[in-house]
Amino acid sequence: MRSSFASRLAWSAYTVAQAAMESRIPWDSTESLLRRQNRRVRRIIRFAWEHVPFYRREMVARGLHPEDFRSAADLDLLPLIDGQIYARNPHLFQPQDALPTAGLVLQSSGTSGSTKQLRHDRRSLLLALAHGHRQRHVLAHFTGRVTGYRELNLVRDGSVASQIRSFYEDHLWTPRRVDLTRVVLTPGELPLDAEIARINDFMPDVLMGYGSYLGALFLSAARRGLIIHRPKAAVYGADSMPAPDRAYLETELGIPVISTYQSTEALRIGFQCELRRGLHVSIDAVAVRIADAGGRTVPPGQPGDVIISNLTNRATVLLNYRLGDVAVFGSEPCPCGRTLPVIDSLEGRSDDLIHLADGRSLHALQVMRRLRTASSVERIQVVQQDHQSFSILAVDAGLPDRKAASSALVAELSSLTGSHPSISVEWVDALPAGANGKTRLVISNLRS
Ligand SMILES: [Zn+2]
Repeated sequence: MRSSFASRLAWSAYTVAQAAMESRIPWDSTESLLRRQNRRVRRIIRFAWEHVPFYRREMVARGLHPEDFRSAADLDLLPLIDGQIYARNPHLFQPQDALPTAGLVLQSSGTSGSTKQLRHDRRSLLLALAHGHRQRHVLAHFTGRVTGYRELNLVRDGSVASQIRSFYEDHLWTPRRVDLTRVVLTPGELPLDAEIARINDFMPDVLMGYGSYLGALFLSAARRGLIIHRPKAAVYGADSMPAPDRAYLETELGIPVISTYQSTEALRIGFQCELRRGLHVSIDAVAVRIADAGGRTVPPGQPGDVIISNLTNRATVLLNYRLGDVAVFGSEPCPCGRTLPVIDSLEGRSDDLIHLADGRSLHALQVMRRLRTASSVERIQVVQQDHQSFSILAVDAGLPDRKAASSALVAELSSLTGSHPSISVEWVDALPAGANGKTRLVISNLRS
């Protein structure tokens, strides 16, 4: 439902004030960032204790009080939760009284096809919009302006990004001169040449979409001799972009590629700066730690599970929550000068696993590294039917010898699994995307 004009103006004023502050926060001193973070930790803990059944119950059971939480490091006193625990009883994570201003119920389809619902209150949604200015300042480096540029979004209709965008359109009033001009297209809905014609007509400064789609789009165009307008920057979030696609866009076409880190649970988690070396984490809004399988925090440089605490959303309170991604914190500050810490690499989903008959599991990245090196094929998807049968989908990007590559893929996967499974190789033009628009490297149909 659309807000009244007065309400839209009031919330716009709030967002504009926040956005003004946002432009300096990434360069604040670490002490000042941590002070901001700690203040939000104490506030959300107090709120959870007073109004949110799950946290009230768990804190009482552990003999904890709000005073025991002074900083983000104390959040691991709370039980480690994940999407499954949340999905069993979502209402336990919502306040039972003292309801925050109504916002939006985000619907997201997970990789397994199940639907997840998450409530966000209005203030936290608008703070996320203000946080977006951290990324806009990075984009301005390439487009030359913070507002008024042309952006084309290639996102699926009904995606989390489009639900959030409609919310902003309904609840904010933005003067045309400071807004950006945006066109939205559903990837793959039009035939390739028609999609390219739309892009060429609009001439976007910024092209946004799925990492698995953007590179593939430019590569398919090149194979068919079609010319696409070159934007000043390409931005993707939600999934990853294969390394050769990124190299093609950056080196061959001269289009800088910038990634962002977002989730339905915490909205904006991180963004890449102009140097594009890692992802700066907005720790003032989302506390992030990297932990081992037992939930213990690991030092920078070591990979582990991403555990987040959303410090701003009161409509669904999620603290010490395993997001399902695997990442590594960098140990050096970024040379760009921003003090927000950097995730060096986001290594994919922790549930992208192949399950072996002997009980071991192989992570998607481990499998991909080996298969790519052995076959020189970069774009591969492995689908596991059961312990003994796999199919490999591979994209032939001008290979000299497809048959040799097929044999190499089969031999390498057999050796990785340590058994003699039946493996089929199918050559395709592009890897299929899942129901949520993302392409996964490994899909296991085995129930682990
Ligand atoms: Zn940086």
